[in-house]
Amino acid sequence: MPEPQRTLNGSARYSGIALHTGVRAHITFHPAPANAGIVIQRVDLPGKPSVAAHAGNVVDVVRATTIKQGDAVVHTVEHVLAALYALGIDNALLAMDGPEPPIADGSSLPYVEMIRSLGAVEQDAPRKLLKVTEPVFVEQGGSKVVIVPDEKYRISCTVKYGATLLDCQYLSLEVTEETFVRDLSEARTFCLYEEIEPLMRQGLIRGGSLDNAVVMKDGAIISKDGLRYPDEFVRHKMLDIVGDLSLVGRRIQGQVIAIRPGHPLNVTTACKLAAALQDQEA
Ligand SMILES: [Zn+2]
Repeated sequence: MPEPQRTLNGSARYSGIALHTGVRAHITFHPAPANAGIVIQRVDLPGKPSVAAHAGNVVDVVRATTIKQGDAVVHTVEHVLAALYALGIDNALLAMDGPEPPIADGSSLPYVEMIRSLGAVEQDAPRKLLKVTEPVFVEQGGSKVVIVPDEKYRISCTVKYGATLLDCQYLSLEVTEETFVRDLSEARTFCLYEEIEPLMRQGLIRGGSLDNAVVMKDGAIISKDGLRYPDEFVRHKMLDIVGDLSLVGRRIQGQVIAIRPGHPLNVTTACKLAAALQDQEA
């Protein structure tokens, strides 16, 4: 018997600063019917348009994942989506009053806490699975991902930036609610100082600060409270993979082997998985 789909057992709101605009943003999580998937609604726009969190709706992958359907555009969806996926929420409506959810501390932690405080309810429909039956391979520049068949959902990830001695990292784990919450959910966004300095000058990351990112500069790590995990970088990359691959809209069964992944690679992989699924079902 397949597992039943699940949604949230109530509604809750979270507020905080949005990364790019720097304004205070609010996001409210609501339950949604079976087979609805994850839908984000822009309640601040005329007609309150919605966008489905699906790979086919991704329009931008530079630094963060942006989805759009009609007039509804939402940036930086990956940390919210990762928390929903890992905590087993198949269906939810996320109401937002701007183009970006709060960046919070740059991790999934506040969203995990919110989903856990609401709890989940089972719904009267079977979960949709994506069972990887043959290898899927994507390569972009120096980044690669291959997904091979596996009974579980596992991610093995390697990163190397060459900016500090600490940034060559590898980790492999099975993605479950327990491992996500314990091993990935608190890992924060990180970046090279050289990458963000021009963005800050152009006012493109008005909400960016050491409250929501770890910065690598001149071989050192600049962070408000040290590192949360000694290998926080690879863990955040795995968190991003969980969020981006959730755009397939299915529970994934397969092992993801990723080398220097990023949003462009992750989203191309999600699109390829979604296309393979369509072929299977055609
Ligand atoms: Zn991220």
